[in-house]
Order: sequence, then C-alpha cells, then structure tokens
Amino acid sequence: MNKLLEVKNLKKYFPIQTGVFHKTQSFVKAVDDVSFDVYEGETLGIVGESGCGKSTTGRSIIRLIEPTNGQVIFQGKNLSELKGHDLQKIRRDLQIVFQDPYASLNPRMTVGTILEEPLKIHGLGSAVERRERVKELLTIVGLTEYHYDRYPHEFSGGQRQRVGIARALITRPKLIVADEPVSALDVSIQSQILNLMKDLQEQFGLTYMFISHDLSVVRHISDRVGVMYLGRMVELAPKHKLYANPKHPYTQALLSAVPHPNPKETRERITLSGDVPSPANPPAGCAFHTRCHACMDICKTERPELKPSSDGHFVACHLY
Ligand code: SF4
Repeated sequence: MNKLLEVKNLKKYFPIQTGVFHKTQSFVKAVDDVSFDVYEGETLGIVGESGCGKSTTGRSIIRLIEPTNGQVIFQGKNLSELKGHDLQKIRRDLQIVFQDPYASLNPRMTVGTILEEPLKIHGLGSAVERRERVKELLTIVGLTEYHYDRYPHEFSGGQRQRVGIARALITRPKLIVADEPVSALDVSIQSQILNLMKDLQEQFGLTYMFISHDLSVVRHISDRVGVMYLGRMVELAPKHKLYANPKHPYTQALLSAVPHPNPKETRERITLSGDVPSPANPPAGCAFHTRCHACMDICKTERPELKPSSDGHFVACHLY
C-alpha cells in the first residue's frame, strides 16, 4: 500500500501563562514527538484515555491547530511549507468529522447552506451544480432531499452526524480525520454510523484516521491501531496483532478492561494504579513508569523509542 500521510516527530505544546504580563511559565505537552504513517485506503485507529493527545494529533495534522514542531507530509508535500492558495487547495483533501455534530453545525443555517459552504470557499461548481451535489450527497449518507432546507435542530443526533459526514465528504477528500465521531451517540445509532463510514470508504476510496477512547469501536472499524499515552505513541500494530497480543503494559491494561465477546476467553484484569500524570509535567524516562507494574530502573531515566518488535508491530517499551 502507498503512504498517504507521514507524520514525523510531531509536537504540540500549549503555553501556560501567568501574571498580568502573561509570561509563559511552562508548557502542556499535548503531543510530544509522535511519528507514524497512514496508508492509502486504510483506517488507522488512535486510542487512549482522555487527555492523551489523540485529538490534538488529529487537529495538528489537518492544521486546524498549528503544530509546535515536526513534519506532516501528505502525498509527498510538507504541509508546514504550504501557504495561501497551495494550502487551501490541499485542505480539500483533508477533512474532519467532529464528535459533537450539534455544536459543529451552525444552527442558523439550513443543512443545504452548511453543505454548500465548503464548495463555495473552494470555488467548486456553479450554484446549480453545488445544489445538485449536496442533494446527491444527502441521499448517499442516508438522508433525503427533503432535509436540504431543514435546520440542524430538526435532526436527531444520528442524522446530525450523517450531515457532519456529508460535510466532510463534500469536497471529495482523500483523508478524513474522524474525532470521536460516535461517542456522543446512542449505542444503537453508533453501529449505523460506523457501517455508513465503512460503506463510504469503499465507495469513495477514503482513508480514515479514526480517533476514539472506545477500544471496541476502534476494533470494529480499524485496520491498524495506535495507542497513545500522555502525548506519545506507545504501541502501533495491525488490529488483529494488537488485540490478540498487546505488548505494551499500558495497552495490556486497557484491553484487560474490555469485555470479550467470548466469555471463555476473558483476560486477567490489570488495574492501573494512580492517576494519569499532568502533561504539563510528564515523568522523566518512560511517561508510563509511574503506573507500570513492570517498571525497571532504566524506565525512570531513558525514554523508550517506538521500535519494531515484530513484523508491523511497533512498541515503545524497554521490555522489548
Ligand atoms: Fe513499563 Fe518500563 Fe515499558 Fe515503560 S518502558 S511501559 S515503565 S516496562
């Protein structure tokens, strides 16, 4: 498979400012030196507890927020070097679906206007063509032409997320960052939206970066899965390898808490001690060492790099 996206040493630090002069005292290291690739046509799931930096990673990649450092290379082009028209042009290919479909849709605009807006911004099609494109897309995502003139408050949560997906698709992107797209929905609706996303991926040859805290949801939709902890990628592997044989102690603990569909194959529950440390003051060495049952002396001083431990299975841990 071809690489669509290369993320190299991505960092996003948010300054902590104090006093009347807003002097920067320190930084929240939301994303701290993260590297990975995304291949054409795949779904890369990114999981981790809230505050692990997974959403910030997704938003930094599509430049919704400006990364502090690192490179994001999309189809061979370094996004941080693009400006003006070139950046706007490539933005068509990179879209996002947000967690809260209601908050991300302007309540004063009809769905038709919301969906036509990106086409107008990018100067795509005439008014008639834009209207036709929107109506066609509404039916593709499981709505109808009737919904064109309706307002977001007239939709259910699941329908609103269908609108959110249609908005992401309207410019015919190549990569969609889906940031907790089903977390705000009822369980019964979640599977409908996930199945819709899978169908659309096949139909349009889409590549997804699917961000979620829910390991079961990520397992359902992903081809490969990356696990983040405190702004760092700690494990990355094809889905079947990661769920069958998690290597990082953090991944092992997360998976031990997920109910297994087969009750005979339950894992021994690993309880994590202590709280997640503050990303403003992460522990030295391995960021997980304060909670790891296998912690060694080296873990307290040396940061483990994400390295291949077997074919396609990467782990950042001194045990390997
Ligand atoms: Fe645990 Fe050490 Fe591995 Fe970190 S590097 S996960 S502390 S064994």
